[in-house]
Amino acid sequence: MKKVLFCWSLCALFFVQLQAQYGYWQQAVDYTMDIDFNVKNNRFDGKQLLKYTNNSPDQLDRVFYHLYFNAFQPGSVMDERNKVLTDSDSRVRNRISGLNKKEMGYTKIKSLKMDGKDTEYFENGTILEVILPRSIEPGETVTLDMEFESQVPLQIRRSGRDNAEGVRYSMSQWYPKICEYDYMGWHPNPYIGREFHSPWGNFTVNITIDKSYVLGATGVLQNYNEVGKGYQPVDLQVAEPKGKTITWKYKADNVIDFVWAADPDFKVIQKRAHDGTRMYFVYQPGDRTTENWTKLPQIMDEALRFMNKRYGKYPYPQYSFIQGGDGGMEYPMATLITGERSLGSLVGVSVHEWMHSWYQFMLATNEALYPWMDEGFTTFGTNETMNYLRSKKLIPGEVSDHEHARSYLGYGNLAKANQDEALSTHSDHYITNAAYGIGSYSKGNVFLNQMEYILGEEVFAEALLDYFETWKFKHPTPYDFIRVMEKNSGMVLDWYQEYFVNTTKQIDYGIGKVEKAGLMGGKTKINIERIGQMPMPIDVLVTMDDGTTTVYHIPLDIMRGAKKGDPALYKNASFTVLEDWDWVNPNYSFEIKTKMRNIEKIEINASKKMADLNTENDQYVKS
Ligand SMILES: [Zn+2]
Repeated sequence: MKKVLFCWSLCALFFVQLQAQYGYWQQAVDYTMDIDFNVKNNRFDGKQLLKYTNNSPDQLDRVFYHLYFNAFQPGSVMDERNKVLTDSDSRVRNRISGLNKKEMGYTKIKSLKMDGKDTEYFENGTILEVILPRSIEPGETVTLDMEFESQVPLQIRRSGRDNAEGVRYSMSQWYPKICEYDYMGWHPNPYIGREFHSPWGNFTVNITIDKSYVLGATGVLQNYNEVGKGYQPVDLQVAEPKGKTITWKYKADNVIDFVWAADPDFKVIQKRAHDGTRMYFVYQPGDRTTENWTKLPQIMDEALRFMNKRYGKYPYPQYSFIQGGDGGMEYPMATLITGERSLGSLVGVSVHEWMHSWYQFMLATNEALYPWMDEGFTTFGTNETMNYLRSKKLIPGEVSDHEHARSYLGYGNLAKANQDEALSTHSDHYITNAAYGIGSYSKGNVFLNQMEYILGEEVFAEALLDYFETWKFKHPTPYDFIRVMEKNSGMVLDWYQEYFVNTTKQIDYGIGKVEKAGLMGGKTKINIERIGQMPMPIDVLVTMDDGTTTVYHIPLDIMRGAKKGDPALYKNASFTVLEDWDWVNPNYSFEIKTKMRNIEKIEINASKKMADLNTENDQYVKS
């Protein structure tokens, strides 16, 4: 019996290794944390049990953790980086240099054992390197048992105490967090204030804090009947706790991070959305908040309706909108947003941060390597959802037929000034904040919007949902995204990523000569020129003097396919697919069976969905 078991477990291990080596794998984490928080000196003691499962095919003889709070100390890499950046975020600049002992942040490790045995560890700024007493084998789960103490920094960026609106604690990136290990190896990026990447797991977090405080957090509150504070069902009476503190007990499953915020003045509004998702709105009531925060629940319910349909079903049991932080920042099942805003701005930031649940928390591409797949795609979803809310008259403003126009403008201005850097740049390593910010948010959005232009709206809508269903909870890369688009469209799309992501080559097409052709001039010859270095499929919209319109679509040869039409882009226009345009050729011409004098107007890129950087050569109008 023993022998058989032994053999079986060996075989199982072998199988896990094979699967890991040749297929997809990801690490798994399971955190249990007990936090004892002191609101008088802004410090806390923490105990963390981390069950770590090594699903990789590799033996791991060391692990790394992030210690984000150590960034908020004079001389830290975040401090140095932001002093050097020519366009540093005004929230950071040289503010870290000015922090005194009581204002700076830290996380100090008091002890760390693996399966009861001591480890050797070294703190290096925001990264903790741990030499393990023995390797973690492929397929093995170990327990890392840590004690630590931290001081919450004065709010500089994202997390910290006493933010500009007077919220006491914005607790993001606050606990020792294991770094991601994936097919590319470890990702122990020092924290300079940019992006995140981490494994999914389950969190059990118990926070003991002065009983006057109200919390908002990632995770489902387990003991609302002890805590109350607006989290209990309306008809449930909750007794006043006896001691000076309360322990808030949370669980969150399948998330990549855990955030919380606390303030004695917080008020909680709860609402159950149409699909059963519980929404919590946690804010400080006042002249500049109450009116708009009270309107938010109904609006976000309607936003979720659109987001579920367009981007895939939101799978978590709840979501919390929490006043805190220094603008808007996304976390799993929650966001920290500043709260003193106009209704439009409050809804905009709420939609944007919730939208991140799709691209940062369920798809969770490596945000440090591909920030555009998070911020850009999230911006795309934000703009569409806001347009939907405008159409429902839930927020002020006109419905736009090009809700992404500002992203095109932002990217265009940066590119024309030759300030853009390739989207393949690691987010920490962009030369300027502008190139990182406009690249990630605006060009990233343009990337997705142009994909819709290439595929046509119907095929794209299905492909976008397929991307979500295929890759949710799996950390896709740009290649995985492109493959899903290819499979749904039947097109070859590698060239699109190679040009638009890996280079800064630009798009510029123009209308050349329009001339009489055919016997007796019964036809018209239209010449199109590629001036920019990046090739694209082209839509040519021809308007006749009787008002009829036709779109002539010119596929790119290397696409090996063409969209079938795009009725949403060109209302009532008929759609004709022409011969392919060879990517090597700067010129292309075609004839239409119409007398030149009957043509009123010829336009390329009439939809403005292609990031053509020079619009001056895009139109021919009858003289
Ligand atoms: Zn964002």
